[in-house]
Order: sequence, then C-alpha cells, then structure tokens
Amino acid sequence: MQVPLLRLQCGVNSYDWGKVGQDSAAAKYAATTAASEFSIEAEKPYAELWMGTHPSLPSKDVETQRTLLDMVQDNQALMSAEVSERYGQKLPFLFKVLSIRKALSIQAHPNKNLAEKLHARDSRNYPDDNHKPEMAIAITPFEGLCGFRPLGEIVHFLNTVAPLRELVGTEAATEFENTVKCSEDSEDPTVTDKNKDALRTLFTSLMKSSPESIEAATQKLTAAAQDSPDTFATSASTSETNPSNPEELAALAIRLNGQFPNDIGLFVFFFLNFVQLSPGEAMFLKADDIHAYISGDIIECMASSDNVVRAGFTPKFKDVGTLTEMLTYSYAPIEEQKLEPTDYPYVVLNASAYSSASSSLLYDPPIEEFSVVKTDLKRTGAKATFDGVVGPSILICTGGTGKITVGNKTQEVKEGYVFFVGADAECIIESTGTGEDAFTTYKAFCDLTGKEDMVNGN
Ligand SMILES: [Zn+2]
Repeated sequence: MQVPLLRLQCGVNSYDWGKVGQDSAAAKYAATTAASEFSIEAEKPYAELWMGTHPSLPSKDVETQRTLLDMVQDNQALMSAEVSERYGQKLPFLFKVLSIRKALSIQAHPNKNLAEKLHARDSRNYPDDNHKPEMAIAITPFEGLCGFRPLGEIVHFLNTVAPLRELVGTEAATEFENTVKCSEDSEDPTVTDKNKDALRTLFTSLMKSSPESIEAATQKLTAAAQDSPDTFATSASTSETNPSNPEELAALAIRLNGQFPNDIGLFVFFFLNFVQLSPGEAMFLKADDIHAYISGDIIECMASSDNVVRAGFTPKFKDVGTLTEMLTYSYAPIEEQKLEPTDYPYVVLNASAYSSASSSLLYDPPIEEFSVVKTDLKRTGAKATFDGVVGPSILICTGGTGKITVGNKTQEVKEGYVFFVGADAECIIESTGTGEDAFTTYKAFCDLTGKEDMVNGN
C-alpha cells in the first residue's frame, strides 16, 4: 500500500480583513507550495489558508494534483473506516491559518440543530448543515472579543459610557441593573437564568438601534475617547471596577471606528470580553458563543463547516435576529474563555529534544472532531515520534526547518509546508535547522478513541 504521507497544496482566501501582501502569514505559507500561477501581490489582502477537504477551498495532493477529498474517498484507510463512516467520507475538521489586519465580523456559529434549520431555510447564506465549534491558537500577539463580560463589567460601562446607555435606552439599562444587582456571582440556576434573560433583553435592545442613533452615539463615544483617553470609561465613585487601562480602551475604540465607521460593533465591544493572547495561548469557542477577531495571526481549527451568523463589523450578510436568538448569554471572565494546553502523552522525544527543552503540547477542546498538538523542537537532531492515531492528521510548519517521516517516506519540511498523515500511521518529525529558531509544527487530528459518548460540543 502507498505510504500515508501526502504533501498538500493549500489555497488562501483574499477577504478584505486579511493582512496585506508579505505581511500575511497565510499568504507566505500558501506561496511555499502554490500552484504555478500564484504569486503574492504587494497590495492584496490575504486572510485565510485552508487545510482540509471543505469544497469551498479544497486542498490538493502535490504529487498527483488530486484533491484531498478525492484521495480520502478513494482510500478509506487514510481516515480509518470509523472516522470515514461517521463524517460521510470527509475530514471531520477544517484547519486554517488566519492573518488578521482588521476586525472581522461579530459572529457566532450555530449548533447542529440550528445549522440544519438555517441551511434548509437559506442555503445561500448557510452553506452546510454542520455545527462549527472552533479553537484559535495565537502564532503572533492576538486580540479578539470572546463571550459576554462578567455582568458587573457591563453595568460599569452602562454607567461610565453615556452614549452606550443612551443607545440601549435608559429604562432598559436601569431594569438590567436592578435585575443583576448583587446576583452576578450566584450559582443558583434560577438566578443565573434570570440574569441571562436580562442580558438577552438588553443586548437585543442594543442590536435594534437605528443607524441614526448609532451614528450619533459613535460621535459622542469617539469624541470622549479622543478628548480624555486617561479617564475613558472610568468613574471616580466606582473606581474598583474601572478598566485597568483606559488609554488602551480609548485607542481601541478609535481604531475600531476607523475600520468600521458608525458600526454597532463598537458598542457590542462593551458587552464582550476583550481577549489578548500571546503566541501559544488559545481559546475555544463552543457552538453559539459570540466572538470577533480583531488582529494577529492564528492557527484555527474547527468542525468542517462554513456557517457563520454575523451581526457587526462586516460588509457581509447580517442576521441580527438569528444571532440575538441563538446566543446562550453565558457570562464569564476572560480566564474561563482560554484553553490551557497540557503535555501530549502520545509522543516520544529523543535525548536531544529533551535536553533542549523541546515540547509537545496538546490543545484538546471538549469535542470529538479535533485536537491540536504544537511541537517545538529546539536543537538540530531533536526528534519527536508520534504514535499513530485512529483518524487523520494535518500538520503545518510555522517556523524552522526539519523533516517528516512516515513508513519509508521522508520529506523535507520548511515554514509553510503542510502534510496529511493517514490514520494509524506513526509519524516522526526532526529538526534539521542550525539557527536559533525552533522547528515549530501544529498537528490537527481527529481521534475518536474514548470520545464515543461526547455530545458534539453542544
Ligand atoms: Zn468564528
């Protein structure tokens, strides 16, 4: 049988929010293995590199120029019969690199049930019937919005950002404050349900604002951010809840309004956690979690779907009604939105890898479709041997140089190279670089072992 190691040629999307030209990691990676007609244009934005079998931008086997989809449907062993059957002969996950220059849509992804309904009702805007839990791992410093803020923070902004209070309506704001007062930390489900209802009402009222009122509120808000950044969104009477860095907040408000003038997203910002991730830090977004990415380069992995419900910071189709209805309105501090990696147990590092503090870390969200292992090999000859997993893997190199071996096939690996590794195949990677840079790879995989009872992340 053919050795289950394929080098992939992956396409890059050119959405407007992408980083431009050579600044875009997605474009640089794509260019290392591109079709002959591809070259990076200096002025063009490049947003997303797609690695997988999704029909919107399918990856190809470099050697045969057949699509990966074609390959795995032709040879079930590449995915394992189990995974192939369960996911209809398609890869269960879609692996991406995103290079973000400006904010991209405030959005959420439907759960499985809702996805089926949306797709049946409107297949143009909801191209498939799958859910789309997703995970982001920063490869450069990243900023984003993720989940609702703790309620006390929202109350704080209602009181310190006058145009926000005007926009949701003074009455709605007061009602919200009265409901959630003193009960934010309660774990009693009847109390938290009541709080979530109050949040839903308030947020829905914000999202119904008219374009004229948004424009007026935006002018006031940006004037405040420009005129007095050091006291922006702060209050002398409730100093304990003041934001830690008002200048940063003011600058961000001005930046976001520069990207999307007079957009409701600027006010949604005060409802959502502002998350900054350092390289290697990650967050996981379950179905129905609200989020928006603002800047940075990330590795993203998701269930294979392209269903997005958008409501701001976007020129694309907005579906505010669906968004405000679908959200769970859970609220939590930033720390709870982050996903901590753990040591990956199914890899053996050689002596050179150990002594150079090389590492293999597992990002394992509570869903069955995917996990990601990040491996840093920090010295020439440092080597990591991965056990075969009962499912397919895709590996991308984001720095350094090395080689990859499966069976009797060994291939050179450089920044941007992407490989598919078939089910059950042991896979060895080794650093061959002599410079300071670690040989860094991210390997997404689906392993159903022990996950039979998991409820698809809903
Ligand atoms: Zn998303």
